[in-house]
Formats: sequence, structure tokens, C-alpha cells
Amino acid sequence: MFDATTIRKDFPLILERQVHGKRLVYLDSAATSQKPRAVIDAMARYYEEYNANVHRGVHALAEEATEAFEAARAAVARFVGADPRGCVFTKNATEALNLVAYSYARRRLGEGDILLTTQMEHHANLVPWQLVQPEAGFELRYVPVTPDGRLDRTAFDEIVGTGRVKLFAVTHMSNVVGTINPVAELAGAVRAASPEAVVVVDGAQSVPHLPTDVLALDADFLCFSGHKMLGPTGIGVLAARPELLEAMPPFLGGGEMISNVTLEGTTFNEVPYKFEAGTPPIAEAVGLHAAVDYLSTLGMDAVRRHELDLLGHAIGALEAVEGVTVHGPHQPSDRGAAVSFAIAGLHPHDIGTIMDREGVAVRAGHHCAKPLVRTLGSAATTRASFYIYNTVEEIPALVDAIEATKRFFTR
Ligand code: PMP
Repeated sequence: MFDATTIRKDFPLILERQVHGKRLVYLDSAATSQKPRAVIDAMARYYEEYNANVHRGVHALAEEATEAFEAARAAVARFVGADPRGCVFTKNATEALNLVAYSYARRRLGEGDILLTTQMEHHANLVPWQLVQPEAGFELRYVPVTPDGRLDRTAFDEIVGTGRVKLFAVTHMSNVVGTINPVAELAGAVRAASPEAVVVVDGAQSVPHLPTDVLALDADFLCFSGHKMLGPTGIGVLAARPELLEAMPPFLGGGEMISNVTLEGTTFNEVPYKFEAGTPPIAEAVGLHAAVDYLSTLGMDAVRRHELDLLGHAIGALEAVEGVTVHGPHQPSDRGAAVSFAIAGLHPHDIGTIMDREGVAVRAGHHCAKPLVRTLGSAATTRASFYIYNTVEEIPALVDAIEATKRFFTR
């Protein structure tokens, strides 16, 4: 049975932390989640009991560490329905997206091709494509966003209808307006018009919050970060179709990723190792394994149900506050638990600062999605984001902090 009050007991920081003399209400999980004791302990156990480098060792510790590292890969792959051979551990979602930009888009797209992404993206799913575009020569197009924070389907269909889209990169869930995009439907439309196109999904916000299956999503590449899904910082995942990875050149060169090196040249290791140059994030993989085990035990369907409940309460409560506007879709089923809002006449940075003094941690700014935030007619928003350890009882604290902020600035 999913019970957020019981779950909170597994999170030392959530349970114990006070700020400015008040019990912390942590509403910034879209930036990074807090970590359960199981993750912290699993990483400490690795360092205390079997810390060693992986893959090359012949001694017992190295074997234990390698086993744990590969078990983590298998668990993470299972969590998103992917083939472990296609699961590359990276530093974060950003690095996973850069890998696809440099090793796929830069090589496989060229003059006459369209790389299609959207105006809803995090900079991590915009800047890598912009970086490789001049060399590759493809046309970079963006699906516009409607005033209610959804992809403009007419514009999408028009661009896809050219038959020239060879890569479509889209977020599954917006980190600003919360919108959940119908990825499989969009992917199907792209493939119908351009059978050789590949679909890249930014799952940084969705994998932590929604049941995820790469096949059901119809994604060729799925990118996400460990730290937003109860795991540690320093590890991300690229879950790709192995045959695509096999045909791609390496992204970074060095140890681990080679099969043989001579001064004349190098042959590369098999996938996914070809894309894991240098010592990988071993402790972090162990921590991420504990995180996906924790989430799987709760059940991702139950996680989603809990967040729908929180969303229903939060959107209703926010809209009832005079002067507050909630951005993005208002129907909880169309969105995830990252809720951006505006308070008439107040700047998000001022809002965030005063709310912090009330013990409520929200994020203020452009959320690394400047083109999207501009469509909201502003340079910044205030964002409250929820996760498994948040309770419906915390929503009045959010509202009280907003009321306190309004009072502060109208004194
Ligand atoms: N995409 C989205 C939608 C995100 O919200 C984020 C993190 N804010 C990223 C990508 C990048 O994640 P990371 O910084 O962990 O690489």
C-alpha cells in the first residue's frame, strides 16, 4: 500500500531537516529528488565493503564490484523495458543527449534533412543539436507551443509531412509546465512520413514519475538522470536500441571502450562499453540500482496515482488564491507533478526567496528552458514540484507561503 507518510520515514533529510526554524516542505524534486536511506546505505556499503575498479580486475573485490555494476545495468534496463546491451551509463541526461547529438545526428543527418525538436525542451535537448548543426548541415526546426503549454499539433504535422524529418527529439514531460506529450503517437506520425527517422526521448522528468517502457514509447533513444529518481548525482542513462549503438562511432575515447589499441589505430569494445570511456560511475550505479528497486517496490503505477492526487489538490488550491495563475494543462491526467505558476505583480525570484523563509523550497527562474518560458510571456516562473514523499497535508503550507509572500510585498 502506497503511503507517503510511511515513505517519508525512509528519507532522512525529508524527515529531519528544518530551514529558517521551520520544518522543510521540499517542493523542488524536478530539480533533484531526495534520497532514501536504502540508496545512501547501498553506496556506503559499496565503499566500505567492495570498492574496486570494474571490468579489468582479476581479484575478488574487482569481481564483486563488476557484478554489482552490471547488476545495476540490468535493473535499470528492466525498469524502462530496455535491452541492457543498449543501456549506457553516462554522467547525466545531458551527457546522454550529447552522445546522441555527436555520435548519431552529426554523422547521420545532413543537407536536406530536418532535425525536429520542440519549443518545450530543456536546454539539454536543444543546445546539443544546435552545436552539431553547423557541421552536419541539417535544418533544425522546432514545434511551437500553444498558449496552454502543449505542442502545436498542426505545425508538427506540417513539418513531419515534408518527409524530411530524420530525427525527432522530444521531452516526455515538461520540467516547466508539466505537460505529458503523446510521445508514441508523435513517433508514429514521424515514422509514417519518414521510415528511417529515429526518435529521441528526453525522459529526465518522466522516468522518475511515470511507468516507462521504451517499446511502448516507441523511442529509439531514451535519456534520463539518476538524481531525479531517488538515485545519486553523477549518473545518467542512455537506453538505446543496441543495433543503433553498434553502428555509431564512440563519443569519448579512452580506457574501457577499446578492444585493441596500436599506435596506428584502435578497434572498439562491444556495446554498451564502447560508449563508457574511463572508470564509470560505479558507486552511483549501485545507488541507482537501489533507487529503481525502491521505486519498483512501491510500483510506478502507485507513484503516478499518488502524484495525480497531489496534482488535483495543488492545482485547485493554487487557482483559488487571488492573483495566482497556473501555467500548462490544468487537467492532472495531461500533466506531471511539476507546477509552474505566476503571482500577479511579483517576480519569481522574490516569491521563491520569501517562500523559502516560510520553509517552502520551490524553484524560481527560467528552469533551463528559456524558449518555453518566453512563450508564457515572462522571463521566469515559480515552480513547485512534487514526489513520493510529498503529502496532501503539505499543500496548505504551499498556499500559506504564497499568501505570506503576497502580504510581504503589499505591506
Ligand atoms: N531534461 C529535462 C526535461 C530536465 O528537467 C533536466 C533537468 N532539469 C534535464 C533534461 C537535464 O538533466 P541533467 O541536468 O541531470 O543532465
